[in-house]
Amino acid sequence: MSARIGEFIRLRRDIHAHPELAFQEHRTAALVADKLRAWGYTVHTGIGGTGVVGVLRRGQGARRLGIRADMDALPIAEAPGREWGSRRAGLMHACGHDGHTATLLAAARFIAEDLDFDGTLHLIFQPAEEGAAGAQAMMRDGLFERFPCDAVYALHNIPGIEAGHFHFRTGASMASSDNVTIRLQGVGGHGAMPQTTADTVVAAAAVVTALQTVVSRNVDPLHSAVVTVGALHAGQANNVIPEEATLELSVRALDREVRALLRERITELVQLQAASFKVKALIDWREGYPVLVNTPAETRLAAGLARELFGAARVNTEAAPLTASEDFAFMLEAVPGCYVFVGNGGPGTPGACSVHNPGYDFNDAIIEPGAQLWTRLVADYLKASG
Ligand SMILES: [Zn+2]
Ligand SMILES: [Zn+2]
Repeated sequence: MSARIGEFIRLRRDIHAHPELAFQEHRTAALVADKLRAWGYTVHTGIGGTGVVGVLRRGQGARRLGIRADMDALPIAEAPGREWGSRRAGLMHACGHDGHTATLLAAARFIAEDLDFDGTLHLIFQPAEEGAAGAQAMMRDGLFERFPCDAVYALHNIPGIEAGHFHFRTGASMASSDNVTIRLQGVGGHGAMPQTTADTVVAAAAVVTALQTVVSRNVDPLHSAVVTVGALHAGQANNVIPEEATLELSVRALDREVRALLRERITELVQLQAASFKVKALIDWREGYPVLVNTPAETRLAAGLARELFGAARVNTEAAPLTASEDFAFMLEAVPGCYVFVGNGGPGTPGACSVHNPGYDFNDAIIEPGAQLWTRLVADYLKASG
């Protein structure tokens, strides 16, 4: 495979140089579609906006496998100095989705040219993973009705883990992420005469303090959750008591029931705290990505294949869960499957730079092991008989 991987390193760098934001991945989607067509895939475009599905059917087998890659970049200005650096000011592939796309394209070619299998392969290239729920957009556009899958897989690179090492986890592996805006409405007035007001600053301070008890007092200590107040805005001047205060929260959980509990308790606490200060609370709760849950059989299969390919020393099947979130979780709510982590480079190497950092870059050395795992997965899941 190695001799042919150069093409996909060049392709990765080309995608890197031309980053596109959520639902604007027109160039990337066209490139993906062209390549897939050239290798014999039936290509469907414009699914959920800029999503692309490549279909390859062989034999009479009834099994259907889906593998997904994400294509979008981020509104971050890339650190200068890279030959293949972003040519679009203020945009960059800072999460490695350029690499995930190139890896799946490499697999697409090797599978089409080398593999005898029996069944249907759906390669899913999705838009807008970064906060805009491109996976959900594709599903609402009929992804799994048009392209049914018995199992679905995806991978993400992880900085700080040795390049080409694979991490797996069964069950809840990444957190749900909900965004909440709380508006406190009181009565403004002169800072010298607080008795004539309903002070939203004091109410907001009490709300922030009360929210700290949700994780410490309501969530089972053996479960985990995050309630972060990331923004708090009120007032302009020291002698004016403001009418309004606004809080922005990020709420995360690794369990569907904990997620529901957080919503219930935060709503109650905010309403009751506000009422105790004669302040009105308006809560805008926007559900983001769900908890990402890997199913046991599909995780075991991929981990076993990784162990056969790369050896047990490069495969961890007990990876710790992450409080970050990922919209592949929507697909895993509908279809069994597994989200695979592949190391981007260990501590002290360039690959260790955190995603979403201006200095981050996808490690080209992990395209090959990623493509090998996908190819092997197709060979095994859609095993040709005889
Ligand atoms: Zn990201
Ligand atoms: Zn990402």
